[in-house]
Amino acid sequence: MDALERDLYHRFGSRLERNQPLAPYTSFQIGGPADLMLTVESEDELCDALAAAHRYLTPVFCLGSGTNLLVSDRGVRGLVIRLGRAFALIEIEGTRVYAGGAAKCRALVEASVEAGLAGLEFGEGIPGTVGGGLLMNAGAFGGEMSAAVAAVHGVTREGLSKTLTKDRLQFHYRKAVLPEALFITAVEFLLAPGDKERLRARIAEVRAKRAARQPAGIPNAGSIFKNPPGMFAARLLEACGLKDQRIGKAAFSERHANFIVNLGGAKADDVRALIEAAQTKVHQQTGVHLEPEIKLIGEW
Ligand SMILES: Cc1cc2nc3c(=O)[nH]c(=O)nc-3n(C[C@H](O)[C@H](O)[C@H](O)COP(=O)(O)OP(=O)(O)OC[C@H]3O[C@@H](n4cnc5c(N)ncnc54)[C@H](O)[C@@H]3O)c2cc1C
Repeated sequence: MDALERDLYHRFGSRLERNQPLAPYTSFQIGGPADLMLTVESEDELCDALAAAHRYLTPVFCLGSGTNLLVSDRGVRGLVIRLGRAFALIEIEGTRVYAGGAAKCRALVEASVEAGLAGLEFGEGIPGTVGGGLLMNAGAFGGEMSAAVAAVHGVTREGLSKTLTKDRLQFHYRKAVLPEALFITAVEFLLAPGDKERLRARIAEVRAKRAARQPAGIPNAGSIFKNPPGMFAARLLEACGLKDQRIGKAAFSERHANFIVNLGGAKADDVRALIEAAQTKVHQQTGVHLEPEIKLIGEW
């Protein structure tokens, strides 16, 4: 690590952060420190940082908006990379939308609708970045990223730029599988012409549905578990009496049974214990295994 730190410090100076707590970078507001953390502001910087980590066999993690993560209390070993503002551009040409990996999904939806383009309205209210959304194949209300993606641009672990067209990508429920791990720098979407007023109405409908169902103003990471085939995780959790259950300062939301909320100062270990307790109870009572949708990262 020392050798990598020296190399990165030489290239990036004081922008390289050591032992930076990750809690403020997650929607859960939970998580210990990253050994090293860097925000890159160009593709060259990203390539250099990844190539250096590869040279020193150091693990790297790409952090988006941290809205689908449970970061361990002990933190993350190795290098955490964030994409800076230079990666947040959104450009539209005809029905093609080019969005940087750090652009917010919210901004992508808004820009598309304002350009009279249909296909991403489901994404209204999904917090997080375009890169994170692609990797998670984010979706809601019957739509998901995969339907609109045309190509992905990114950088390999070795620090090489690469473009993958849609036929090279595999999409599953809340998961995209790329032929090799990429730090996604941009995604191209192919949308359809649509009526702006109708699109705006659809967005308002999605927004209202979210507001009615989800806890607001309290830290969380969205749905904790994936919906098992043909079922809703929230209903299973509620039927098994898990709504409102808590461990430490982590509790299943009274508003939405598939959300865990941080009541203030929750530990990652509390959240994990609650997840495991729920899995055990649901399995015992229904025979169904609930698979986490959120990603547990770091040293457990
Ligand atoms: C209130 C709330 C509501 C939510 N509602 C929904 C919903 O309706 N539907 C849904 O699908 N999700 C939902 N989520 C979950 C979350 O917002 C999505 O999964 C989102 O797409 C994650 O994006 P992110 O930038 O926060 O990624 P992060 O949480 O930072 O990371 C998630 C994964 O993506 C990877 N990643 C992030 N950026 C990149 C990149 N540029 N290149 C390569 N890998 C990358 C990370 O390494 C990690 O593996 C919700 C979350 C919250 C808090």
